[in-house]
Amino acid sequence: MNNITCKYGGTSVADAACLRRVQAIIDDDPNRRFIVVSAPGKRTPEDRKVTDLLYAWHGLTQQGLDAAEPRAIIAERFEELATDLGVPFNVYAELEEIAQTGADHPEPDFMASRGEHLMARLVAALLNATYVEPADCIRFDDEGVLDEATYELLAERLGSDGRFVIPGFYGAMDDGSIKTFSRGGSDVTGAVVARASGSSLYENWTDVSGFLMADPRIVDNPKPIREITYTELRELSYMGAQVLHDEAIFPVRAEGIPIHIRNTNSPGDPGTHILADRTPDQAVCGIAGRRGFTMVTIEKALMNKERGFGRKILSVIEELGVSFEHMPTGIDTISLIIKDEELGKHSAAVRKNIERRCDPDSIIVSRDLAIIATVGQGMSGHVGLAAELFNALAGADVNIRVIDQGSSENNIIIGVNSDDLERAVCAIYDALVDFK
Ligand code: ASP
Repeated sequence: MNNITCKYGGTSVADAACLRRVQAIIDDDPNRRFIVVSAPGKRTPEDRKVTDLLYAWHGLTQQGLDAAEPRAIIAERFEELATDLGVPFNVYAELEEIAQTGADHPEPDFMASRGEHLMARLVAALLNATYVEPADCIRFDDEGVLDEATYELLAERLGSDGRFVIPGFYGAMDDGSIKTFSRGGSDVTGAVVARASGSSLYENWTDVSGFLMADPRIVDNPKPIREITYTELRELSYMGAQVLHDEAIFPVRAEGIPIHIRNTNSPGDPGTHILADRTPDQAVCGIAGRRGFTMVTIEKALMNKERGFGRKILSVIEELGVSFEHMPTGIDTISLIIKDEELGKHSAAVRKNIERRCDPDSIIVSRDLAIIATVGQGMSGHVGLAAELFNALAGADVNIRVIDQGSSENNIIIGVNSDDLERAVCAIYDALVDFK
């Protein structure tokens, strides 16, 4: 059986018209048997996401304040959906129960998960499908990490015939308490369901026709990406290309299940296929960048001869609970590139502890760094590509503060001043978009 898992994001279930399109897509192929849904998203740029309203409701309740406003907006949205779709659904009774249970939970997870919970119940009624409760079959361990037992539990639950609707975004801890993934986590649920159900394809339906080679807010009309590997996508999404939650790749990658990103509003568009492997027809598949990095450079004469120097530096940041993104090295220098949000309040302690433990000649902390990743499986062994990239940056008058290239040759990472981010991305895109 070529079963398909379909995940519909918030904008795909935002109103009744969207849900009719979802229904038509599902009815079009009987293999679309496992349906994962988000909570209703924004209908217009000014609109509020139901999940945001639920977090607001929880926050107000915890402070002993009146949460009538977010609650009323949520009630209105589900009431409108149910009426327009002609599905019987007593949203007021549901919200009363949620209010009572939610009040006992200091953590927001229970409340935050209710958007998906209600949406999935409504969609199950609409499609005449079986509702699956994630609290019974998606498990987190004590650290809040997905428990492998989930796959067996879910496989058993999804083992019979017919169509199933599963709320995205949450599961439960061993004690039964609700736990959510991080924001946007319905993508992860979709991937987990695809793997547990043995689906041959994970369709991720959203409001764009797949990935673009660069951020359209930076590059004018960037080319779409038709095919990309899990590894390439991982590099790009971690660096800021957003469409899919960056943890959604792992469950399907383990089984080689392809992901197809598709547009609910334009189902005929080709979208983007995410695969284990591909034959690239051009060198670069995407360019992504983000601000918000700091580089800590530690210098010491004859560092290369001192055994254990790198270990000492890394143990300092490990003990402070700080992780790093890149570690470019020179003969007498080691730099750590760290996300600002990760370094946070630890900046002074990192410096002090490295000084104390490693006795360096100097430590330089450089802020306002933006990192840009140029990614492509076809880049490997390509003579002249790096020259083209660096020439383009010189031509755009961009100063490169750091360069890092993994030995896989699938990416070139550069660090530039934050102010140069847009200029640098445009220059690289123009130079390499059609580089064969
Ligand atoms: N509704 C959740 C959020 O807004 C999860 C999701 O949509 O994937 O983050």
